[in-house]
Amino acid sequence: MRVGLTGGIASGKSTVSELLAGFGAVIVDSDKIAREVVEPGTPGLAHIVAEFGPSVLTESGALDRAKVGEIVFADEGARGRLNAIVHPLVGARSTELEEAGRAAGKLVVNDIPLLVEVGYAPFFDEVIVVDVPVETQVERAITRGMTEIDARARIAAQASREDRLAAATYVIDNTGTLEDLRKRVREIYDALAGTR
Ligand code: ADP
Repeated sequence: MRVGLTGGIASGKSTVSELLAGFGAVIVDSDKIAREVVEPGTPGLAHIVAEFGPSVLTESGALDRAKVGEIVFADEGARGRLNAIVHPLVGARSTELEEAGRAAGKLVVNDIPLLVEVGYAPFFDEVIVVDVPVETQVERAITRGMTEIDARARIAAQASREDRLAAATYVIDNTGTLEDLRKRVREIYDALAGTR
């Protein structure tokens, strides 16, 4: 059984991941893996430099994300070439971690911020969506140090609440307290861990 976890910015997705991990789940974090597969010394980074040239490296030899962002932002072809390098590497590493987690008898949860945006919902048996109204997202993003303008821009660039909910098999309403959240996550962990 494959389980995905997603939610808009400041919905509480990271908090849910931490709770699930605390209950015993193995979290496969797609953002973290996407960084790992292009760390200095990796074949992934070598491949990107071969494709886009050494100008995508910082002075210390790491991937210059801002620079890569500039290149692919305005150029769909370049974006496709970058994704063709990174996505299979992320996929392979995720599968490896998923299989190890499953072999250890754990519930494995794939934490994927853009699960709905990239159209991955059909690849999961269960999709957990952390849901709050946009205004709550904005409030919590501001509490975390973001400006209101940035928060609203990020939210507008992500999937709508409706699209995310349409992909959900489990919805976590995170408008309550952190204790409410803990209880709901426990419920879902118990339901999923019982059928894994
Ligand atoms: P995400 O990973 O979705 O961006 P986080 O889990 O980092 O979101 O949560 C965003 C912020 O909101 C954090 O500061 C977190 O502590 C806070 N938060 C999450 N859930 C709640 C809640 N139920 N009540 C109050 N604050 C919350």
